[in-house]
Amino acid sequence: MSLSPDYGRPRPQGRPGGPRRRPPRHVEVVDVQPLNPRMVAVVFAGESLADFAEPAPTAHIKLFLPDAEGNVARPVVGPDGRLEWPDGRPTMRTYTPRRFDAEAGTLEVWFVSHGDGPAARWAARAEPGSRAAIGGPAGRFSVDPTATSWWIGGDESALPAIATLLEALPDDVTGQVHLEAEGPEVRVGLPAHTGVEVTWHQRVGEPGAALVDALHRDGLGDDTHVWIACEASAVRKARSYLLGDRVLPRTRATTRGYWAVGEANHPDHDFGED
Ligand SMILES: Cc1cc2nc3c(=O)[nH]c(=O)nc-3n(C[C@H](O)[C@H](O)[C@H](O)COP(=O)(O)OP(=O)(O)OC[C@H]3O[C@@H](n4cnc5c(N)ncnc54)[C@H](O)[C@@H]3O)c2cc1C
Repeated sequence: MSLSPDYGRPRPQGRPGGPRRRPPRHVEVVDVQPLNPRMVAVVFAGESLADFAEPAPTAHIKLFLPDAEGNVARPVVGPDGRLEWPDGRPTMRTYTPRRFDAEAGTLEVWFVSHGDGPAARWAARAEPGSRAAIGGPAGRFSVDPTATSWWIGGDESALPAIATLLEALPDDVTGQVHLEAEGPEVRVGLPAHTGVEVTWHQRVGEPGAALVDALHRDGLGDDTHVWIACEASAVRKARSYLLGDRVLPRTRATTRGYWAVGEANHPDHDFGED
């Protein structure tokens, strides 16, 4: 499920209530920890997180960035129930809630410091006291309880989602996790799962190419479920291989384009289907 197309739209007629989504939650950074030279973990807190829903595995949030003065815009509910932004719509990007601690009221997000975009730049400079706002969580992916074997792949941007997926896998499944990263220094520790083998691949050539190669090399079992998220073009190659060459049923292939070379604010609902 994606958040942005519906964000702030009124409920369908006949259903009472205001905007379909609540306004974003204003939060403050309480901790920043470098995970490696290209990734940073940012922990947010705020009273607004009190009713934040426990995110599903691989869920996503919308991060609303502050302006140059550090202020985060607040929307108002317009006459038609939509959210309106009197001071201009803030820059918004999609991220994965890596860990929500309901007791502590904190939300941890891992950012790739790819250097080129406003969200990456914001995270690289974030410090306790930095402010932002968060929409969501959204995303209803659930682990099929009948799945016994998994092939999971992703690049740095998908590491947080893959970590949540590993935490959600039942103990008795087996699987492989393939991760593509710029270099060995970008590797992060992931939750251990006794049945799952993790392989890191050095990025060579186009982003995601090493993942697509690994997919081609590996023998997928008859009942293997695949989850893969990385650069949008690579995701298309992976999906076309899975559904075309491997004739994998659609229900066993979850493919997500998380970003696209040369494109700002890639949509959160890219399932690599075109
Ligand atoms: C469902 C979902 C969950 C996601 N979860 C995470 C997450 O937890 N952590 C995370 O870091 N990202 C995550 N992403 C990816 C993130 O939304 C994008 O990387 C986003 O483009 C970053 O915004 P930006 O402002 O830094 O760059 P943008 O302004 O969007 O893009 C600027 C330039 O940077 C390039 N670029 C964008 N992302 C990358 C990248 N990862 N590597 C190299 N170049 C890039 C673009 O091609 C563009 O040329 C997720 C995406 C989706 C759809």
